[in-house]
Amino acid sequence: MMRAIAVVPGRPETAGVIDLPEPRASDGSVLVRTRLIGICGTDAKIAFEGDYGNLPPGEEQLVLGHESLGEVLEAPGDSGLSPGDLVVGVARRPDPLPCPACAADEWDMCRNEGYVERGIKRYHGYGSERFRIDPRFAVRLDPALGDLGVLLEPTSVVAKAWEHAEHIGARAWFKPRVVLVTGAGPIGLLAALLARQRGLETHVVDLVTEGVKPRLVADLGAHYHAGPVADVPVEPDIVIECTGVGQVILDAAERTPTGAVIALMGLSHSDRVMEMQLEAMNKALVLGNKVVFGSVSAARRHFDQAADALARANTDWLSRLITRHVTPEEWPTALEKRPMDVKVVVDMTAAA
Ligand SMILES: [Zn+2]
Repeated sequence: MMRAIAVVPGRPETAGVIDLPEPRASDGSVLVRTRLIGICGTDAKIAFEGDYGNLPPGEEQLVLGHESLGEVLEAPGDSGLSPGDLVVGVARRPDPLPCPACAADEWDMCRNEGYVERGIKRYHGYGSERFRIDPRFAVRLDPALGDLGVLLEPTSVVAKAWEHAEHIGARAWFKPRVVLVTGAGPIGLLAALLARQRGLETHVVDLVTEGVKPRLVADLGAHYHAGPVADVPVEPDIVIECTGVGQVILDAAERTPTGAVIALMGLSHSDRVMEMQLEAMNKALVLGNKVVFGSVSAARRHFDQAADALARANTDWLSRLITRHVTPEEWPTALEKRPMDVKVVVDMTAAA
């Protein structure tokens, strides 16, 4: 038996550790010893809201962990992996039909909702002491990254948003110079990292006035602003929106120059009435030839892009994104948002 971090979706009081049998051979030929699991807003949504996160068929709890890092224990000779390799599992799996998007290996763009997601949708996550995986969905990391590899999955989601923003911008003349990132959580900070790696003038806006976030932004060579987006004195060619707040999206649409591209990565609160002036948004988008698009999940190639981005990043800066380590037994505390938190990780190797 092995320990796993689990919850019944929508019932946070059930969050805890369960015992599971060893991973099933049907999960894949590669056996991995789990090191770290990152906890993010999606896990909190699963635990608290219940309209997000689905149990696997016949199961009573969902094992969490779509952000993984592990070490290969066993791998077949033709898998391209060897014992000791550091790997991260891709979160989403193509639907079995497959739809045309999944058939093109773009399961992040699945058209029929038939996909599963480890730790989110009808498939246990990687949050057990060991997991099995098909080599097609295991991304090998630069060994120098070590435990920082747990940042790969959130970086993959950011890499996808960047790739799509650049593709959309390329519909016409486009030479982005200034980027605005709204929200300085882990996704916003990683979006700012990728902006700096592209040599762009980067601005990050958030509400906090002190603590680790402004320093992390400054240490990227980017500019930090505290307060409303409307007060940030720049005209960004690309906006990476990570808050999901309606007013922030509208302000971003209105203050960008002609031809701007705005990527929405934040999810709006389902229980909040969004006071969005849609006609003002219409005017900003039509008269400015602007694009607002949504972005979620990542295909295999985005994980590979993210692995390259992390390998090029400053490891000291990356390590400061991980602000709290907890044991599996303590994992429910990772759902609490503490003022100094950026990314909280569960150390699956910690003894009970
Ligand atoms: Zn599909």
